[in-house]
Amino acid sequence: MDNGRLTRMVGGIGEAITRRQAEVAEIEQELAALEGITCVGREWWRDRDHPTKKAKMYVNHSIDQVCPLHGEPEPGGRLRVYVGSDPDAIVEAREAMAREVHRVALALRLRRVEGALGNCRWTLNRLYSDLGYNVGTDGVVVSRWWW
Ligand SMILES: [Zn+2]
Repeated sequence: MDNGRLTRMVGGIGEAITRRQAEVAEIEQELAALEGITCVGREWWRDRDHPTKKAKMYVNHSIDQVCPLHGEPEPGGRLRVYVGSDPDAIVEAREAMAREVHRVALALRLRRVEGALGNCRWTLNRLYSDLGYNVGTDGVVVSRWWW
């Protein structure tokens, strides 16, 4: 048996775990920064094809949909936010919707990394068990057998 290979493989685990834990912390920080500034609505226009009236943008939300940025509708109602035709206001509204897309992607990534760390915890418990050790909830490894 190639014992050198086995111990070399084990040597990298601590750093790999630390990196993923740092990634979790980074994602959580980014998610916290996005709290309350994302919009779950969709862009909608009025008078876009009108020959004389100026096109006006609205942000429409689904029925009973709560928006982190725009709040909560009346029960059974929907939020409709007037943005207007000011280019800066339109950019601002679009950026809030883009932040929501980013937030959803981050939340998905967080679940994946946390899931991977959970699998890793299970695998390490199993590994220590195979070697005759128990791992406490505090992570302390205790020998189970007297060899
Ligand atoms: Zn909104």
